[in-house]
Amino acid sequence: MESWLRNLTRRLAQTPTLNRPYRNAAVSFRRCARTDFDERARLARACGLNVFLFPAEELPGCDLLTDSGTTTMTMSQWSQLLLGDESYGSNEGYFEFKDQIVETFGPEWENRDRLNENTFIFHQGRAAEHGLFKVLARLLGAAGAREPFIIPSNGHFDTTQANIEDNRLEARNLFSPALRRNDPKAEFKGDMDLRALKAMLDDPKLRRRVPLVYLTITNNTGGGQPVSLANIRAVRRLTARHDIPLFLDACRFAENAWFIRHFESGMQSRSIADVVRLVFAECDGFHISLKKDGLVNIGGALVVKEKSIFTGRYPKFQSGLTDHQILVEGHPTYGGLAGRDLKGIVEGLKTVVHDEFLTHRITQVQRFGERIKELCANPKLVMSPVGGSAVYIDIDEFFKDTRLRDADLPGISLTGLLLIAGHRLCELGVYAFGRNQDGVEIPPDPRVNFVRAAVPRLAYEDQDLSALAETIAVLYRARGSLPGIQVTHGRELHLRHFKSRFRFQPRVA
Ligand SMILES: *Cc1c(COP(=O)(O)O)cnc(C)c1O
Repeated sequence: MESWLRNLTRRLAQTPTLNRPYRNAAVSFRRCARTDFDERARLARACGLNVFLFPAEELPGCDLLTDSGTTTMTMSQWSQLLLGDESYGSNEGYFEFKDQIVETFGPEWENRDRLNENTFIFHQGRAAEHGLFKVLARLLGAAGAREPFIIPSNGHFDTTQANIEDNRLEARNLFSPALRRNDPKAEFKGDMDLRALKAMLDDPKLRRRVPLVYLTITNNTGGGQPVSLANIRAVRRLTARHDIPLFLDACRFAENAWFIRHFESGMQSRSIADVVRLVFAECDGFHISLKKDGLVNIGGALVVKEKSIFTGRYPKFQSGLTDHQILVEGHPTYGGLAGRDLKGIVEGLKTVVHDEFLTHRITQVQRFGERIKELCANPKLVMSPVGGSAVYIDIDEFFKDTRLRDADLPGISLTGLLLIAGHRLCELGVYAFGRNQDGVEIPPDPRVNFVRAAVPRLAYEDQDLSALAETIAVLYRARGSLPGIQVTHGRELHLRHFKSRFRFQPRVA
C-alpha cells in the first residue's frame, strides 16, 4: 500500500465509534415514549406498580426488565427453526445440541456412557436448578438432616436460592471483598470470597455440610460482575482438596469469557472459545439458562462431566435426574422444548462466542452506564465497572440526600415512575432480596440495593438507551420530591417482588 494511503487508513481505523457488527433484518414499530403518560399512569396504578404485571405492548421505551429470553434471534437462527425435527424421541436437534455442548465447552463434556445421560435439557434455567437440588437433596437425605446442608456461592441468583431453600438446603453468598467495598477499579468483582470459602472448608464440621459449591458467571446478584479464571481455578483447588464438586451457573459464560479474554493477564492472545474451554475444564457440572448466552427465547440445560468429583460422589444422580425429567419435562431427549428450539440454541451457541458480537454487546451496556453517570453528574450512581449484561443503579446513592428511607422503598418508587415514563426496569434490592418476618423488615445480608437495567441482546440501539438515561436524569434531579411507596399486598410473601402490589405514598403538602 502506498504510504499516503497507509497513513490515511491508520487514521480511519481510529475513529472512536465502532459499527454494530450486524444489521437489522426485521423491526417492530412502537409508539413514541413522549405520549400517553396519563394512560401509563392509569395502567401502572391498576397493576399495583408491579413491573411484571405491566402490559409490555404499552411500553414504548426500553423494556429492560430482564435480558433473559428477550434476545433478537439472528437470521441464521430463524432459518434453523424451519429445519426443526419434531420427532418425539431423539430428534435431530438433540444430537446436534449434545455435539455443540462438546464443541463449546470441551471434550470432557462428551457422553460416552451409553446408559446414563449427561446432558439434561429443560425448558429454562430454573427448571434445571429445581431438578438438580431436588435430586441432590434426596440423595443427601436433606429433609432429615439435623443441620441444613450449605451451598456456598459467589452470588446465588434469586431462583437458584429459592430452589435450594425449597429443598431444605441453605444458600450462602460469599461476595468478594471488592464487591462489598464496591471498589470501582476492581475488574473481577464477581469473584468468590476465597478466604471465606477456605474458612468454611477448613472447618471439618462445616465442611461435612457442604455437598456442592457454586460459581455464578457472570455474578448476576452481585451487580452482573465477571469472575476471573484465577478465582475459578482457586475455588477448584480448594474444593478438589476436600473432594467437593464445583458447579457453574453458566448463564452468561460467553460474556464472562470476554472479560477474562480482555482483562485477565495472559489471556489476550486467546480466543473467546479457548477461554470458555479453560473455564469449563475446572468444574464438574453446570446449569445454564439458554435464554441468556444461548441467544434464544426459551431453553435451559444441566450438564455433568462423566469423569468428575460429582459423579464419583453422587453415582445415582444421573438416573435420578432422568426420572425427574420424565415426570416434569417429557422425554429426556427433548426436555420440554420443541425440536426446532434445539436447532435455534445450537446456532445461538455458535454465534455467542464471536469476539465482535461480545465487544459490541458489552461496550453498549458500558456506554449506557457512562451516559447515566454523565447526565446525572454523579459517578457513583451506577455500579462501576459496569457488568456485562446490565447497569445497576445504586438506590442508596440515588436517594441518599432525600427524606426517603428503606421503609419508603425508593427503588420501587423509581421503577413505578419509570413505567409511567414508558420504560421498564426491576428493583433488586431491599424489597426483592429482603424479607418480612413477623412484621419486621430484614434487609438482605450482605446488603444489596439496586434497580437493574438489564439490556436484551441485539434488541436496542444506543439511541434508545440514551433516551432512557435522559429520563433517569430527569428523575434524579427531581429526587427530593419523589414519593415513597406503600405496600398494599404481599409484603410477607415468599418471592414477594414477583407478586406484591404497591402505591405511591400520598404527598404531604
Ligand atoms: C436467569 C438466570 C437463572 C434462571 O434461568 P431462567 O431461564 O430464567 O429460569 C439462573 N441463574 C442466573 C444467574 C440467571 O441469570
